[in-house]
Amino acid sequence: MADATVKTREPIEIPPMITVRELAEVMGVSPIDLIKALMANGIMANINQTIDFDTAAIVAEDMGFELVLEGTRAAPEEEVAVEEEVAEEVEEEAPPARRPRFVEPGEPVEPRPPVVTVLGHVDHGKTTLLDAIRETNVAAKEAGGITQRIGAYQVEYDGRKITFIDTPGHEAFTAMRARGAQVTDIAVLVVAADDGVMPQTDEAIDHARAAGVPIIVALNKMDLPTARPERVKQQLADRGLIPDEWGGDTFVVPISARRKEGIEELLEAILLVADTIEPVANPNKPAIGTVLEAELDRFRGVTATLLVQAGTLHVGDAVVAGTTYGRVRAMFDEWGRRVKEAGPSTPVAVLGLNEVPRAGDLFEVVKDEKTARALAEERAEQEASGAARRAPTSLDELFAQLRAGEAKELKLIVKADTQGALEPIRSQLEKLGTDELRVRILHMATGAITESDIMLASASDAVVVGFNVPIDPVAERVAEAEGVDVRRYQVIYELTEDIEKALHGLLEPQYEEVMIGQAEVRAVFSIPRVGNVAGCYVTEGKVKRNAAARVFRNGTQIYEGEVESLKRFTEDVREVAQGYECGLRLSYFDDYQEGDVIRFYEQRRVR
Ligand code: GDP
Repeated sequence: MADATVKTREPIEIPPMITVRELAEVMGVSPIDLIKALMANGIMANINQTIDFDTAAIVAEDMGFELVLEGTRAAPEEEVAVEEEVAEEVEEEAPPARRPRFVEPGEPVEPRPPVVTVLGHVDHGKTTLLDAIRETNVAAKEAGGITQRIGAYQVEYDGRKITFIDTPGHEAFTAMRARGAQVTDIAVLVVAADDGVMPQTDEAIDHARAAGVPIIVALNKMDLPTARPERVKQQLADRGLIPDEWGGDTFVVPISARRKEGIEELLEAILLVADTIEPVANPNKPAIGTVLEAELDRFRGVTATLLVQAGTLHVGDAVVAGTTYGRVRAMFDEWGRRVKEAGPSTPVAVLGLNEVPRAGDLFEVVKDEKTARALAEERAEQEASGAARRAPTSLDELFAQLRAGEAKELKLIVKADTQGALEPIRSQLEKLGTDELRVRILHMATGAITESDIMLASASDAVVVGFNVPIDPVAERVAEAEGVDVRRYQVIYELTEDIEKALHGLLEPQYEEVMIGQAEVRAVFSIPRVGNVAGCYVTEGKVKRNAAARVFRNGTQIYEGEVESLKRFTEDVREVAQGYECGLRLSYFDDYQEGDVIRFYEQRRVR
């Protein structure tokens, strides 16, 4: 592995066109260094950009390498060929696909700053790093602002902005996800170079992966004489985070947060990763986003930090945030300066909400304050009636979803009493997987079942299984509140039996169809590129997403299908109860008329 970092002074063969990433790989240098060398030559290129041979040759020469055009000399030496092979293998591990939030199909979008969360083990320097990054934003300081802690801040580097969430740690990150909020584009994992990968580092890696967020490693405390960077890189590689200088996809940036060293390189790495995920949003629509934090201030009233995720928020806008509402009276940035508008990825402290919303609540701008109020009140009612509560994640329900084709994998969080027990458990569990059902272990560790495990399960629709471990009392309460299924076993056989029973033993359970609710079409909306949406009032029982549905017109059934999408306002929901309005679409059906009656059915297992 270490060979990859040894610079070869032999001429390196490259094709006429090559990407920055590939060139860095064949030269065995960090893509960041290569991009810097390109910049020094006046070429702004991102990691995926293709450059031609002449450009590559000039930069390579600056860096002490000689390049030759492919085919213009004898066959390359073996080492080079081997290196390329390794690089290709790693290449296959593409970053997880992410669907852009708040972007409708076909909507015109523009690039937006990436939103970054800092994760890592306690005392590895997350807070110090966030402070160090904030202080690099000299431009804002010169403008006379005094930094305020509002829950997030933006810095500008190289003419581009990056948004940092100011609450570090995977607990907050996953708690937000459990509430349905997904704000983070990139995770910076802080690992102290003297301490290495610790239990919470592992946990943070798993939480970021469960969320499908790419990870950049900040190798902190490099100023300490006890720093062991190579050891930490090996630990990271063992966990599938292969450092870029070893031919992998993970940037590992050495820094000292205390001495503010390596901060620029870290920001560069963030921008490089941002270039590969290309965050976008449409700035030209009413704002929508997430509440990052909120408090009641004795003098100013409710102050809420909102992260705009799409659209633009303006002073004077009517806003509904969770079950609270109001009008934006004033907005401030992280320097305490008044701002009039805030576009995608911008955090702003907003005055004017009637009550304190919760972190992780969705906010959106609506037509006027009256509408905002009506929506907030309706939501509050719905919450009180329990209709908005998350459907619990239980093994039974997961199997129901699997059978309905909604879920393709069974996600598990595994805790066991000893390290030695974990591997056999993993292999046994993975063996249970079939073509239709994959078993995916999101997180596996020793020790009691904790709140963090429960929140990860809640955020990711996973089941928690424990082998000979207790559940701590807080976790138990949270599991109850979040509806997370926690199963504890003495021996692994009991769990495999449980799953097999559900999978095979009762493979032919009997079902009968039951009507679960009925709704009336009150209005029909035509949505461009989507089609018609039926605005319905639920007159009986409830409507559930994916329930079977039959449409009746004047007493005659005219269509039979499935509830394809179900919304309360603009939010996707799993179900809507009697007495509430909703917008729905059935699969392959567009011909809704006012007065149509839609009945909803479910298959219920009777044996
Ligand atoms: P957190 O728990 O991850 O937020 O860690 P903190 O930022 O609170 O830092 C924990 C301790 O490590 C503090 O005493 C910091 O001063 C110290 N620390 C943070 N960064 C560095 C660094 O780069 N070098 C050294 N030597 N110490 C650091």
